[in-house]
Amino acid sequence: MGIESDWIWMDGEWVPYGDAKVHVLTHTLHYGLGAFEGIRAYKQPDGRPGIWRLDQHLERLLDSMRITLMPSPYSLDELKLVCGDVVLRNGFEEAYIRPLAYIGEGSMGLGARTNRIRVSVAAWEWGAYLGEEGMKKGVSLKTSTFTRNHPNAAPAHAKIVGHYVNSILARYEANDDGFDEALMLDHRGLVAEGTGENLFVVRKGKVYTPPPINILPGITRQSVIDLMRLDDIEVIEQPLARDALYVADEVFMCGTAAEVTPVRSLDRRDIGKGKPGPITKRMQERYQAAVHGEIDVLQEDITVVDPR
Ligand code: PMP
Repeated sequence: MGIESDWIWMDGEWVPYGDAKVHVLTHTLHYGLGAFEGIRAYKQPDGRPGIWRLDQHLERLLDSMRITLMPSPYSLDELKLVCGDVVLRNGFEEAYIRPLAYIGEGSMGLGARTNRIRVSVAAWEWGAYLGEEGMKKGVSLKTSTFTRNHPNAAPAHAKIVGHYVNSILARYEANDDGFDEALMLDHRGLVAEGTGENLFVVRKGKVYTPPPINILPGITRQSVIDLMRLDDIEVIEQPLARDALYVADEVFMCGTAAEVTPVRSLDRRDIGKGKPGPITKRMQERYQAAVHGEIDVLQEDITVVDPR
């Protein structure tokens, strides 16, 4: 499974994969101001692809652009059609969809405001983000030495290209030290999120997650909260210190790419029994059922892709 596809949408045109290129003086490439999304389409019971919570992802993209003062050349409805088309045109049954808004070439310098805002939408087939084995047995985490971006340095509600330098440094560090993923603490030393995932903690039958203030308000995070509610489990949004994870019965991460990924250890300490626990496994199953159109009350969250 590579990231290749036949077609990528760039600024209103369908471009063959090999021609989807940008100029080296593209502003975003130099300074990192751009906004993006990660969205997944799943095969529905009737065989058609369906995109999970597409409106919410595109609303977040437009919000990210507002926060960063990038006027969007396209409306939510226009982008919605493109996201469906990118799956169809490439003949995917299931796909990861990547809209990207960026500042084109023309002027350089941080104050340049007249360069064209460009938008592309690509899609590819993407399996388990943290590996199949991690999905089954749980992943290992290391508390990062890198602090999550301070909200006054980098607005956490926006999914901004340059924010991911912080995430990549943490991910490299964790991987180089032999762990699967990093746990990122915020500027106060409290649990924030993974490098590309939100986090849930289960203890004594109660479920906790950090409030969405200085973390990315994940769409999967909200999906998990909604699924828990359907199971009559209340999720408590409260600040957590890292030791809350040391004594947890279960921890799991979630994100569009990572879906629901169990965490088996943090800082070489087993979490619970060191393997996925019952609530984590239930959420893994329920999330897959939801995105595949098998939970009636959540079907309106799926945009079924139909040939037009
Ligand atoms: N936090 C960060 C830093 C992320 O990059 C992501 C992935 N977009 C998430 C959380 C999870 O967000 P979502 O569920 O919307 O994909």
